[in-house]
Amino acid sequence: MNWDVIVVGGGHAGCEAAAAAARMGAQTVLVTHRYDTIGAMSCNPAIGGLGKGHLVREIDALDGIMGRVIDQAGIQFRVLNKSKGPAVQGPRAQADRALYKSAMQRLLENQDNLSIKTASVEDLALDDAGRIKGVIVEGGEVILGRSVIVTTGTFLRGVIHMGLERREAGRVGDEASVGLAQTLDRFGFRLGRLKTGTPPRLDGKTIDWDRLEEQHADALPEPFSALTTAIEVPQIPCHITYTTPATHKIINEDLHLSAMYSGNIEGIGPRYCPSIEDKVVRFADRDRHQVFLEPEGLDDDTVYPNGISTSLPEPVQAAFLKTIPGLEEAVILQPGYAIEYDYVDPRELRHSLETKKIPGLYLAGQINGTTGYEEAAAQGVIAGINAAGSCRDEEFAAFCPDRGEAYIGVLIDDLVTRGADEPYRMFTSRAEYRLRLRADNADERLTDKGIDLGCVGEARRSVWQKKKQQLVQWRSVLTDLQMTPNALQQKGVKVVQDGVRRRAHDLLAQRVLDWAGLQNIWPELADVPERLREGLATDALYEAYIKRQEADILAYRKDESLLLPGDLDYGLIGGLSNEVRQKLTDASPETIGAAARIQGVTPAAVTALLRYVKKRPHAA
Ligand code: FAD
Repeated sequence: MNWDVIVVGGGHAGCEAAAAAARMGAQTVLVTHRYDTIGAMSCNPAIGGLGKGHLVREIDALDGIMGRVIDQAGIQFRVLNKSKGPAVQGPRAQADRALYKSAMQRLLENQDNLSIKTASVEDLALDDAGRIKGVIVEGGEVILGRSVIVTTGTFLRGVIHMGLERREAGRVGDEASVGLAQTLDRFGFRLGRLKTGTPPRLDGKTIDWDRLEEQHADALPEPFSALTTAIEVPQIPCHITYTTPATHKIINEDLHLSAMYSGNIEGIGPRYCPSIEDKVVRFADRDRHQVFLEPEGLDDDTVYPNGISTSLPEPVQAAFLKTIPGLEEAVILQPGYAIEYDYVDPRELRHSLETKKIPGLYLAGQINGTTGYEEAAAQGVIAGINAAGSCRDEEFAAFCPDRGEAYIGVLIDDLVTRGADEPYRMFTSRAEYRLRLRADNADERLTDKGIDLGCVGEARRSVWQKKKQQLVQWRSVLTDLQMTPNALQQKGVKVVQDGVRRRAHDLLAQRVLDWAGLQNIWPELADVPERLREGLATDALYEAYIKRQEADILAYRKDESLLLPGDLDYGLIGGLSNEVRQKLTDASPETIGAAARIQGVTPAAVTALLRYVKKRPHAA
């Protein structure tokens, strides 16, 4: 069999890539080490959060599966940042690990055009022209395919560290992937080392819950997926405790035993997800750090203590746990550890996630220097669409959402233009146009595109078309319904008596009235579907700012339309410093806009570049 798309790795990027390619109609095979680890959450049992929740909604808008899976597995749904503006709120859900994996496996099993094979991929196969033609698995079997997507996460030459002990592994319980790392090395890909860590897992039966603060799920859990009508999984609380000065004393005294501090790890760790050793050293003035005790499942007593990831030896972990209220008697089920692994410099990629070196080879997920399930899945969906599209049609225009369109666009653009010298995670602050890129309007931004591409199935198409029609209808009603200030005053609404009629839309935008207040005046608004209300109110609230952002987006897109030739020799361009020249050569940006976003590339350098490209014969 000659497959259209081969996906290597059944983690979060791989599952999403395989499902997307198959939805596009490509005959797809997912090749992964073990069936039972498909969809496994290596670290935190949670999906979403600030910036990350936006990514999940965007994946869902393209008919991806992460949102549907967490809706079947979430045991505590909460919208984070609820007190802040709608653009920076982030849906998040803690997951029952086992339910998450089984829901993911079920969805993949039921996906048309998709087969699953368990094997370890050791090498890539190329044709004489240097284009990908398949993969070689352990034992020598060659699996042929027109496109290959590699999504091997933390497995490439992975090394686990616990105290001063180290051993090769992709994560606890899994072998590292060495052959494939050597292959990427052999083909000349620029590789680097990164690290990340995980906390010890605790036996919930040994925690003194009664002394701890509880945190509850939202009263009305909000699903991630537009296809989910209600969350049916029972919702349970998590608990909060804090480290103490005694905890910090033990950590400080034993720092020399921590893999992170003993010099044993050369890779760089995630700045925004620091280990407890990092926190104690960097924030020495703080006498406590918060620890969320998150249950790993409804029928599982394992507890994930979020906030104390560590690479100290197990006896030290046990000792410092005893100093944390509620955990004095806690039994460790699996010690915390750090993992160090190879990643590929993402500047080796095009925005489509195809590698520049090997046509037909795509990379997605943690292999590209990111950290997090959502970041991995977001890349997976794009790689899956593009790998499948290019098999279907040689002229296929790669789908590369831009920074004005999606957080996925921000993520990929940041990676391929700036590279990743530390594990990259998404934040709302990374997006310039975040009033437009909201979690509640991901479908408005992306689903029609997904339908045109062919990656959106019938069920979602019909849900979206109904919503779109309702949005048009209710937006028009909100501007048609108007009242004079005098009439409003008679209804008890205080507005300036300036004679200017107020539209229902204006009253919502200026927060004069909420939906209940509007309904008192115009009872027909009671029919506005619940799911539309937040988005309509937010659009009204941000209307003026969004218009201004649209102008900024147009200017940004103008620069993006100025393409740079792939074979540009930056050494020939006068007026560039050696440093800028090196940065441009490493990133080989596809557009003037992308060149300008590379750190250290000055406006003067961009002008020199533009002048050179315009003068070049056959300039784009
Ligand atoms: P993975 O989920 O790692 O999946 C890789 C898949 O590829 C696996 O199924 C594996 O079996 C398969 N595979 C690998 N090599 C081969 C091969 N040669 N042949 C066939 N199959 C192969 N994220 C955070 O956001 N915050 C954290 O604090 C955090 N801490 C972490 C701590 C640890 C110890 C680990 C291991 C991960 C941590 N993560 C954290 C990262 C999170 O788990 C990843 O970001 C996410 O799982 C990446 O998804 P992925 O699909 O790229 O790779």
